[in-house]
Amino acid sequence: MRTTALLLLALAAVTSAVTYHGYKVVSVTPRTTAEAQVLQKAVQLLQLQQWTHPHRLGVPVDVLVPPSLVYVFLSGLQAKHIPVQVKITDVQALIEEQVATRTPSTSLPRAFDHTQYHTLDEIYSILDGVEADYNSLVSSYTAATTYEGRPIRVLKVSSEESDTKPVIWIDCGIHAREWISSAVCQYILDQLTSGYGSNSDVTALLDTYDFHIMPVTNPDGYEFTWSDDRLWRKNRFPSGGALNCHGIDPNRNFDSDFGGPGTSDQPCSDIYHGTAAFSEKESQAVRDSVQALGSRVKIFFTLHAYSQLWMTPYGYTYDLPDNYDEQYRVSKVGVDALIAVHGTEFIYGNIADVIYMAAGGSTDWAYDAAGIQYAFALELRDQGSYGFLLPPEQIVPTGEETLAGIVAAINAV
Ligand SMILES: [Zn+2]
Repeated sequence: MRTTALLLLALAAVTSAVTYHGYKVVSVTPRTTAEAQVLQKAVQLLQLQQWTHPHRLGVPVDVLVPPSLVYVFLSGLQAKHIPVQVKITDVQALIEEQVATRTPSTSLPRAFDHTQYHTLDEIYSILDGVEADYNSLVSSYTAATTYEGRPIRVLKVSSEESDTKPVIWIDCGIHAREWISSAVCQYILDQLTSGYGSNSDVTALLDTYDFHIMPVTNPDGYEFTWSDDRLWRKNRFPSGGALNCHGIDPNRNFDSDFGGPGTSDQPCSDIYHGTAAFSEKESQAVRDSVQALGSRVKIFFTLHAYSQLWMTPYGYTYDLPDNYDEQYRVSKVGVDALIAVHGTEFIYGNIADVIYMAAGGSTDWAYDAAGIQYAFALELRDQGSYGFLLPPEQIVPTGEETLAGIVAAINAV
């Protein structure tokens, strides 16, 4: 017994957090199908993590490269005259910079603070504080409990007690490493709560709609990005496989062409879809909350990072939804308003054309199965200068432009 305890202690000591010293993010721009194939082969052969997966020629693909493979990767591509650019020279330095400005505190915060990224405990404490401070406007519920036992919370912002108004759904952080997404959900919650009664636009909005906001859809994964691996994407369910891997991509786990293009059946893959549609608590949480709201949900937003895109169904097919023209019109209104705030470039259109084929995603499910006529997936800042490691100084401007886009889209519906 004592030996086992000592062994466990020793194991705990060696399984410290993953670090990325000297890792680079290299942007590769294949211009022909042959060049794209060279890139794909190199990524597979060297087992590199791809940060973006655009499928169109002429669009840069961002790849994370460990120091030991930088030379072979770069020289291989350069020998074929494929344009490459090192976008991030030291990933670990950016990981550390992202949290360097955090103010150490012995107690958990109770109010919004958009100057820094927050741990899960901090976010949930802030949500508790907001619920207490605005108890006539805000209430919360637990949509599901994760594999590791954490609640997936939803904050309901409503100016009336009765559940009769149309609903705007916003979920954030279904992918763990996309920290800016959860930060923006907090920013939106802050603006809605503090603005009601003092800001006429916010007041009008909340007199018309209820908001249901899920700020951290994947709390196990999010916690893991703070404790163990900043670049973790999936949830933490033991997915198995030969390497005893963890994690299912919750956004490949919806019942929308489950197992189709842009997903993987390999438990170690970053886009592993799981054993069955809705096998995961995170996708169940979104499904169950949205279904409970029924036909009241008018617009479904899910926030991701990065690439600066505003996307509509479908991801599993190049076919367009019946009301594509209408969703495209509203997307344009949202994007125009978003760009007007800080000039941040955004592209809009259907998922398969704008980014890549991706089956099993929440947006397609929201449109097809839940019957929500406006289903938007947003990829927030940036375009790869920082990628997932966006500096905390950009939380507020990203929140401002995203909220402006969302409000304009709502008003256009
Ligand atoms: Zn994502």
